Amino acid sequence: MTIKKLSWVVEFTGCPAIIKRCPKCGEKMRFICSEDFRINANKNKLDVWLIYRCEKCKATHNREIYSRVNPKSLGREEFLLMQSNDGSTARKYAFDKSLGAGKAELDYSRVEFNITGENADVSCPAEIKITAPFAADVKLISIIKGKFTQNGEPVSQSGLLRLFDDGIITLEGYEIGKAKLKKEMIIMVNSGIAM
Ligand SMILES: [Zn+2]
Repeated sequence: MTIKKLSWVVEFTGCPAIIKRCPKCGEKMRFICSEDFRINANKNKLDVWLIYRCEKCKATHNREIYSRVNPKSLGREEFLLMQSNDGSTARKYAFDKSLGAGKAELDYSRVEFNITGENADVSCPAEIKITAPFAADVKLISIIKGKFTQNGEPVSQSGLLRLFDDGIITLEGYEIGKAKLKKEMIIMVNSGIAM
């Protein structure tokens, strides 16, 4: 029996918002990422921020990405990507909750993504390689749930979790219920394979 090789590529088309108090609105608001950087060069040190705006009043919040770093430690390529407000570079930082002083409260509720690659039929053995531009604090199941079919029909999320429970589908190294998206993950469809 041959095992089909599938490749799924995840691409985020938006960023998580930040939840913080807006000084103008006077309450906690969602701040939307503009995907633009602000860079200050001061002698041999760089400060870099990612610019967010309050959803309601458009007040600006500069989220610290780098503070007083040596440009060399950043690398020229990364610097140029930030200087040109490269969208995928902005998203890489926007998804990183550990950046800057004090952890940001990120809101993933409206993050949009695409996942490309041929859907997997759960009755055919397959090895599925999932790649993403960066690891993200987003549950894998919410990203892959629409990618499986059975008899030509899409498999529901609960149906998919049952297939994982039964070992028909397995995720290497992680528990599907808790797994967050990593840069590279492997899922096996084991139907018809003696285990
Ligand atoms: Zn506001």
